[in-house]
Amino acid sequence: MSDLRPLRLRNSLSGRVERFDPARPDEVRMYTCGLTVYARGHIGNFRTFVGQDLLRRFLEWKGYRVLQVQNFTDVDDKTIRGAGEAGETLRDYTTRFIELYHADADALGVRRAHHYPRATDPEYIAAMVRLVERLLERGAAYRSGGSVYFRIAAYPDYGRLSGAAVEGRLAGARVDADEYDKESAADFVLWKATEDGEPTWDAPFGAGRPGWHLECSAMALELLGSGFDLHCGGVDLKFPHHENEIAQSEAATGEPFVRHWFHCEHLLVEGRKMSKSLGNHFTVRELIEEGVSSAALRYLLASVHYRKQLNFTRDGLRQAETAVGRVNALLARVPESSASGPFVPADPGVRACLDRFEEALNDDLNVSRALAEVFFALRQANQGLNRKDAEDGAGVAEWAAAIRSMNEVFGVFEMEGAPDPSSGEDLVEEIEGWIRERRDARRRRDYARADAIREQLRARGIALEDTPDGTTWRRLD
Ligand code: AMP
Ligand code: ZN
Repeated sequence: MSDLRPLRLRNSLSGRVERFDPARPDEVRMYTCGLTVYARGHIGNFRTFVGQDLLRRFLEWKGYRVLQVQNFTDVDDKTIRGAGEAGETLRDYTTRFIELYHADADALGVRRAHHYPRATDPEYIAAMVRLVERLLERGAAYRSGGSVYFRIAAYPDYGRLSGAAVEGRLAGARVDADEYDKESAADFVLWKATEDGEPTWDAPFGAGRPGWHLECSAMALELLGSGFDLHCGGVDLKFPHHENEIAQSEAATGEPFVRHWFHCEHLLVEGRKMSKSLGNHFTVRELIEEGVSSAALRYLLASVHYRKQLNFTRDGLRQAETAVGRVNALLARVPESSASGPFVPADPGVRACLDRFEEALNDDLNVSRALAEVFFALRQANQGLNRKDAEDGAGVAEWAAAIRSMNEVFGVFEMEGAPDPSSGEDLVEEIEGWIRERRDARRRRDYARADAIREQLRARGIALEDTPDGTTWRRLD
């Protein structure tokens, strides 16, 4: 990591773009609110997981060691209801969705976290019980009707993250649900009295089960300690989940909980909120089964700034397929160098391009500018290949190495599940465009250009055939 070129990132707590400085110089401790495992995650969830993965990869690219913890919420109102309806134990029911999460996240190239605590693992239940005891001792929690509630009047900073208004509500209005609106900010449940048949754990303050908010505080404090660097989630988690995490953690420890809060905006589908009733609710698996490549899906999810809503459209997916295909076509022609160690370009143009790439991402993760550098490098490499003289050989290799380096952050090129070069309507259009361009080149007697076009297409599995009636194309087997 370079002190001279620090990352500047918006901190939801201050509402400002700030210099990101981890507490320890070379290490970033990062907590990601993971999936509530009552259903298979949808592509909206994965917009947030890919956004967080991009941030983690960029920190690693800059040289930080990142320690990432991502939980699974395997006990809350929704998981209990789901398991009950399915007639399964909570453990069996939630384990299925955890496995599906890993399958989808792996398909999308999301780097694995270092720890995946499950809220119901005995060590974390024990940590939650300790946290509640501490809050009771400090007068920041109280018991009522067999449950334990957090007293928001005991935490004057309540509302700092989300702007939740608490005036007039400090006199013990209570809420038992895991999810509720800002308008109903109230004392929230830490430990719930359970009903018959619900999973229950013993505790000195009465048998029951944890509330959702308590779980993340306990797991994060247990694995990362107070004052860790980065806490991430989708914007919907700011209130009440993250607001409550801060309140109960800080009230219990007396120390700042998190240095930097990172929130990803939502994904919409064709401009509308994703919902089962609108029929626009997709999982990663469903899209892959339809023939969408996971690389194109990842590209689409990663290519929109994390603070902008991402409008997921079929058209966007097609453009993503084309973009990934173009870069893969080049990389297929330029084998990876076998040199080990970090890539240090000799060419000043390549160095400048990588510098601009880093600057773009240092600027609150400006992915559009960063991707523009990938495509700049692509053009340089393709031009070098088309010139085909020996002098350009080294240049092409360096531009390709630069693309591979930038791809450490984006993780979309040369991945398994790359677009099939022989599918897609836009590909037909694109090939026809190349055929026209090649015909024009031949008319100009620019045979080098014409040959380069033929070769580029061949590298993508497309063969051109010249016939007396013009040029046709076919897929190579
Ligand atoms: P959940 O399983 O509901 O706790 O959500 C897991 C993660 O996905 C959280 O960080 C949510 O904020 C995030 N998330 C949920 N819906 C969307 C969406 N439509 N777009 C982006 N992120 C979402
Ligand atoms: Zn959480």
